[in-house]
Amino acid sequence: MAIRNIREIGDEVLTKTCKEVKEMTPRTRQLIDDMLDTMYEANGVGLAACQVGILKRIVVIDVTGEDPYVLINPRILETDGEQTGSEACLSVPGKTGVVTRPNYVKIKAFDAELRPFELEGTELLARAICHELEHLDGHLYVERVEGELLEMEDMEEE
Ligand code: ZN
Repeated sequence: MAIRNIREIGDEVLTKTCKEVKEMTPRTRQLIDDMLDTMYEANGVGLAACQVGILKRIVVIDVTGEDPYVLINPRILETDGEQTGSEACLSVPGKTGVVTRPNYVKIKAFDAELRPFELEGTELLARAICHELEHLDGHLYVERVEGELLEMEDMEEE
């Protein structure tokens, strides 16, 4: 188990476009394992490789706490509907903001063995997929926040 340092907003690495994964190597396998450990340690529901400083198109997501998805070179095939709700990011600690996302997404990705698969998600899973995929193109949810970015504590007091 290895926890990696999570890069925070202001770090240039979060603004870069990540590169496609062409082959699975022991190093990339280790990266995926570390990303899962790092996400769980931080109580996050998703993490993109650039958030630990590696510019590869790899995302891990787990909205239930027991069923992680590893998404390599993910691509959105279809979206539908709309949901508006609070979002946060491990790279923007202590903050939250309201973002509108599709309520349904269908993606194509490759698993840790580089086998292609499709995944459909609604609600929180759809939101997490959209959020994480944007990291791979150097974007943070704060660019999409409706109104102001809030302190996490302000939200809890309400
Ligand atoms: Zn994020």
